[in-house]
Amino acid sequence: MVKVDRKVIKELRKIVGKERCLTDFEDRLVHSYDATKQSVIPDVVVKPRSTEEVSAVLKVAHERGIPVYGRGAASGLTGGSVPVEKGIVINFSEMKRILEIDSANFVAVVEPGVVLEDFQKEVEKRGLFYPPDPASSDVATMGGTVAECAGGLRGVKYGVTRDYVLGLEVVLANGDVIHTGSRTVKNVTGYDLTRLLVGSEGTLGLFTRIIVRLIPLPESVVTAIAFFDDLAKAAEACSAIMASRVLPRAIEIIDRMCYRTVQKYRKAPISEKAQAVLLVETDGTMESAGAEMTKAVSVCREHGAFDISETDAPKESEALWQLRKSVSPALYSICRKRINEDICVPRTELPATFARIEEIGRRHGILIGNYGHAGDGNIHVNLLLQEDSPELAAKAERAVEEIFRAALEVGGTLSGEHGIGNTKSRFLSMEIRPREMGLMKDLKRLFDPKNILNPGKIFV
Ligand SMILES: Cc1cc2nc3c(=O)[nH]c(=O)nc-3n(C[C@H](O)[C@H](O)[C@H](O)COP(=O)(O)OP(=O)(O)OC[C@H]3O[C@@H](n4cnc5c(N)ncnc54)[C@H](O)[C@@H]3O)c2cc1C
Repeated sequence: MVKVDRKVIKELRKIVGKERCLTDFEDRLVHSYDATKQSVIPDVVVKPRSTEEVSAVLKVAHERGIPVYGRGAASGLTGGSVPVEKGIVINFSEMKRILEIDSANFVAVVEPGVVLEDFQKEVEKRGLFYPPDPASSDVATMGGTVAECAGGLRGVKYGVTRDYVLGLEVVLANGDVIHTGSRTVKNVTGYDLTRLLVGSEGTLGLFTRIIVRLIPLPESVVTAIAFFDDLAKAAEACSAIMASRVLPRAIEIIDRMCYRTVQKYRKAPISEKAQAVLLVETDGTMESAGAEMTKAVSVCREHGAFDISETDAPKESEALWQLRKSVSPALYSICRKRINEDICVPRTELPATFARIEEIGRRHGILIGNYGHAGDGNIHVNLLLQEDSPELAAKAERAVEEIFRAALEVGGTLSGEHGIGNTKSRFLSMEIRPREMGLMKDLKRLFDPKNILNPGKIFV
């Protein structure tokens, strides 16, 4: 591990100024963790304001082989921004300008530190829409969501972050600045470096500008909540809605345990016999959103749903989504340690997958709560450990491996949207075969021969 000495600090101060080069313990401590609650304290934190400053910082780091960790809001769930080998953290919060919203061409250009929800509000004022919507959108940054290829609630209809990124300005490990893609929706000129970099988790380059595609803001949105007395029935309803040729913009599932936990904190509707909740949202014109919801609700009823309510009032809809968005933070209150996985399976495999997860949890004596983006088969499987013991940790590790195996056996994947980081890297070879793994490692070496960009992530 290469130490950051006084000479390096002096050089970094020359680049960003003393105020934006943080060496105090407290400043470094708050840059030591992400939402996984791992903590490694970096040697120094810099807060650049321009591409030139990011490039100069990387040149210093590259020359000496010092690890560099990009950091957005640190809401990542796989340790992505944790500086596991210390070194330099680059905090992008000072690069938060929306540089352009081109309403005529449906394109926007932003700096990486822009908070996703702030950006969405700005484009929506102009009747435009940026659909990627992780449940952390009120804090997560554009840079972090592009680096993770965040998915979220609307993936089922609108896809994920990669479907909206048209181009990038990227600072490479050696400080060189490259530009990928263009401002056009179509572009097949050369290899698609943009697509390679989206989801690269800060390991191939650091984004300093992001060009994204926008679409028209749907005129109308209808949201419904439906309770089921059986988790499998709720999962079956989800596939049946899609089979009825309705494409909701969100279908979220929450199991009884997760829902009950949220209920302790918020006033939430609940039926005593409910074992699962579906939240369904349609959008379009007033007529089409309403007609699609009528169809979706009738499919839910056919699958045994009861206590269904729907609304097109934005405030009421927001209250329903706050329920869903509170699940993740609320779960921390009922366990000593939480392991949050995000397997993704073909939608029709959801009922069987829930049954497998239940059986795995029971066999290992581990409490498991499930919720997530049922519409695209992406379930957040939460192992809620009641004590912090090595025995329970070992059992949880085995349970996680079995859950991954279950997902792979039905044609799924280890991670739908949270990425690999350092929490899943030891499982990567379960899905990626040696040849493909070799190619990925070759690419990493090509972009970052000294392995200074986010070392310790993705690969073991
Ligand atoms: C309550 C909660 C709910 C969530 N719900 C969802 C969800 O529904 N869907 C979903 O997909 N995710 C979800 N997440 C995960 C998380 O919000 C996303 O991973 C988010 O994309 C990370 O953004 P961030 O700004 O916090 O990035 P960080 O956590 O700071 O960083 C994430 C990764 O991006 C890299 N990075 C940061 N900035 C740059 C840059 N400028 N250039 C290159 N690399 C960079 C970091 O090095 C790191 O590897 C949730 C998290 C929480 C806590």
